[in-house]
Amino acid sequence: MNLPVDPAANLAALIRCPSVTPAEGGALSALQAMLAPMGFAIDRPTFSEDGTPDVENLYGRLSGNGPHLMFAGHTDVVPVGDEADWTHPPFAAEVADGWMFGRGAVDMKGGIACFVAAIARHIEANGAPKGSVSLLITGDEEGPSINGTVKLLDWAAKRGESWDAAIVGEPTNPEALGDMIKIGRRGSISGDIVVHGRQGHAAYPHLADNPVPGIVTLVDALLSPAFDQGTGNFQPTNLEVTTVDVGNPATNVIPARAKASFNIRFNDTWTAETLQAEIHNRLDRAAARRKLRPGRGEKINFELIWRDRPSPVFLTRDEKLTAGLSASVEAVTGRKPVLSTSGGTSDARFIKDHCPVVEFGLVGQTMHMVDERVALSDLETLTRIYQRFLEDWFA
Ligand SMILES: [Zn+2]
Repeated sequence: MNLPVDPAANLAALIRCPSVTPAEGGALSALQAMLAPMGFAIDRPTFSEDGTPDVENLYGRLSGNGPHLMFAGHTDVVPVGDEADWTHPPFAAEVADGWMFGRGAVDMKGGIACFVAAIARHIEANGAPKGSVSLLITGDEEGPSINGTVKLLDWAAKRGESWDAAIVGEPTNPEALGDMIKIGRRGSISGDIVVHGRQGHAAYPHLADNPVPGIVTLVDALLSPAFDQGTGNFQPTNLEVTTVDVGNPATNVIPARAKASFNIRFNDTWTAETLQAEIHNRLDRAAARRKLRPGRGEKINFELIWRDRPSPVFLTRDEKLTAGLSASVEAVTGRKPVLSTSGGTSDARFIKDHCPVVEFGLVGQTMHMVDERVALSDLETLTRIYQRFLEDWFA
């Protein structure tokens, strides 16, 4: 039997498929060709939604008696930019000086290649795992994320699939393999504030109503005091004002309205609802306390508009998963990884509704960049970490 035990060979096959979102590019077929000889049952559901491109996904399951581990990730990649800027062509998987070059090398075809190699080695060494292993792979992580992980999870759950734990193979290590496992994420909410005034001549302010002092007052109320000091597993909640717009080209005109936008990354002190209530309170108090201009009595006239759906905060407390993976990293690399909740959102925020989930993959330094690349030694090390984890988790 010819099992896909070599992560570099697996990765080269995946990189050579130009699967720029939303194109499948042959990447899922290449993955299927690796999984099928190991006995995986493969499904390739395509999901659609008006206004977004159709996206093909892959769910592969190797069934056994025992607990069920999911490995989740994506084969789609971001565009390459100007190909001429690359030292090695982005879909050629060329190797130079111990590095393999190509779009997706670390984000995250490399993580998939290592996990596949780890299962293959596990089967060669121990036979089939004492339980089930599934790969839940989307082609829509770097795009709108509409026809990807969320629908794939629902699709699988409707067929009766359930999981005991999941690893997402995104690149989590900032500098070196073994730096960091992600065990949760801050939540994220975004909003806009619009202050309504009345346009007029800058020389006759009593006839107008300038919204600019109002937006400054409200933005100030958002920025202080601090929301919290952070918690055991999380950084302090942070609000960033991302833009303040008046859009007034004239110096002799008082504008009619002013707008500000903000994004908050919040920890487990809050839920999206309690934080939104806090924002409302801060703005209402500031609007009543401060005057638009001296001598003017009324409150600041503002609207608060929440954007998108909030992304919830979560923390994984599954010891077998977090401590087990941490021990595997330490056994293979000799380094104790930080268990972190830093960074932006990922598909783990959807998986956490189905089972405990952590993220651990390659070193992220070159992700989304020209000359994205992975050290061949890292591919080997990550494969050993995943294999070690499989052996312990199914023991
Ligand atoms: Zn990614």
